[in-house]
Amino acid sequence: MTLTPVAPLPEHEVRVRAPGKVNLSLRVGPREDDGYHAVSTVFQAVSVFEEVVATPSEQRTLTVSGPQAELVPTDGSNLALRAAALLAERAGIDDGVHLHLHKGVPVAGGMAGGSADAAATLVACDALWRTGLSRDDLLELAAELGSDVPFSLAGHTAVGSGRGHLLTPALSRGEFHWAFAVQDRGLSTAEVYAAFDDLHGTAIVPDQDDDVPLMQALRAGDPRALGAALHNDLQMAALELDPGLAEPLAVAQDAGALGVVVSGSGPTVAALGRSRQHALVLAAAFTASGVADRVLTAAGPVAGARVVSSTD
Ligand code: ATP
Repeated sequence: MTLTPVAPLPEHEVRVRAPGKVNLSLRVGPREDDGYHAVSTVFQAVSVFEEVVATPSEQRTLTVSGPQAELVPTDGSNLALRAAALLAERAGIDDGVHLHLHKGVPVAGGMAGGSADAAATLVACDALWRTGLSRDDLLELAAELGSDVPFSLAGHTAVGSGRGHLLTPALSRGEFHWAFAVQDRGLSTAEVYAAFDDLHGTAIVPDQDDDVPLMQALRAGDPRALGAALHNDLQMAALELDPGLAEPLAVAQDAGALGVVVSGSGPTVAALGRSRQHALVLAAAFTASGVADRVLTAAGPVAGARVVSSTD
């Protein structure tokens, strides 16, 4: 009898996708004693994705691909490696892992790409190592890693308070369509907050009631009302540091965007379209006017970090 060779077992691999976000509203309070600012924000997860592939390995290592891969650190400062280390410590695991990040979200663009990597890594390593931790445990670890990480895990639409890490899910109907003007030059979140402090030393504590019209627009699935309600307290600070951002803001307005706002701490500019088709028109306007290094279109809301495939 001849034995036919058995095909090698597929390497155990877990593939997770996590979305970028746009802050539909970002209201920032004064700098507190610990250096942080209290915020009140409304997040929407959008269909621009980070993908993390986790495979077993002796050590904890990381590779990165995607349009701005060279801007991403691959040492222990990478938020994905920090997420793997934190999860391993809390779950009492000392396995290694190799993480491959494919970055679709702009780097240092105000769309929480690093946070999405951290959230995706928590989900991927949790599945790979079968830690048995609950979703709430993962949310707690996420909050330790960064203010935006819990939302990258949760996805959809949520109101964030505290540093943005305390989440309340928000109702939202239908789909909203965006065009994003992405810049190669990033903006440091810390520098934007410092510029905010210089501009608004006496900022007032944010009040969630200010976002009542925005929440109504989301519940009604009304893009026109949502466009009118977009708000970002950091926009002036981002413009101060990067005056060139006035150009994509103006281009989107001229092209009939329902609303246009700097995303988070910038420099990505988010323009809301009337429809998927209109978002493509806005993207074309960004491209034609040369005000963006890269242009993306996306829809939101979408789910948070999720396993998309796993081999066993
Ligand atoms: P946020 O919107 O949460 O303020 P961001 O989207 O503006 O974040 P990120 O892309 O998350 O910014 O990265 C900010 C900086 O963090 C980068 O310039 C880089 O030095 C560092 N960094 C650490 N880990 C990562 C990662 N996994 N991906 C990208 N940058 C990372």
